[in-house]
Amino acid sequence: MTASKHVYGIGIGSNRVHPRHGRPAAVVEAAIARLARDHELFDASPILLNPAFGGAGRDFANAAAIVESDLEPEAMLASLKFIEHEFGRRPGKAWGPRVLDLDILAWDGGDYHGRALTIPHAALGERASALVPLAQIAPDWRITGGLALRHLAARLRRARRKN
Ligand code: AMP
Repeated sequence: MTASKHVYGIGIGSNRVHPRHGRPAAVVEAAIARLARDHELFDASPILLNPAFGGAGRDFANAAAIVESDLEPEAMLASLKFIEHEFGRRPGKAWGPRVLDLDILAWDGGDYHGRALTIPHAALGERASALVPLAQIAPDWRITGGLALRHLAARLRRARRKN
């Protein structure tokens, strides 16, 4: 018997320079390539850059990918944590775990509530850095039967203009 396949929307973010890959945008690019090694990569968004101003603070880079996998959600989360760990590991030096952040933003299985995992991601509707790249590659995806991602993104843009 073959395991059933699932489609996942993965959020990818970085705000640290990586000793080998370099700036956050390059970290995100390398993470997309790394995801493609473990999973069937259907699509990846352009990288959204939020550069730090005036040399202070950090650059943020975000993207989203659509992957197909036979992993169930908890196993998918574990596989993402493994990749985060690979990117964050730097023996002998203090190295924050946030050089790479991978989140399950959505999947094709509807609402999922596990012990330490909620899908859709709780912040998907409010966090432009997650929503905008995913809406770029899957604009018509109706997350759990609700609004299409492009409509969620439009709603977020409107809400931000008002604030
Ligand atoms: P993060 O702050 O992104 O590193 O995530 C911290 C924790 O959030 C993870 O260890 C997960 O247990 C939990 N979590 C809950 N929902 C999600 C999700 N949809 N994707 C990734 N992590 C999640």
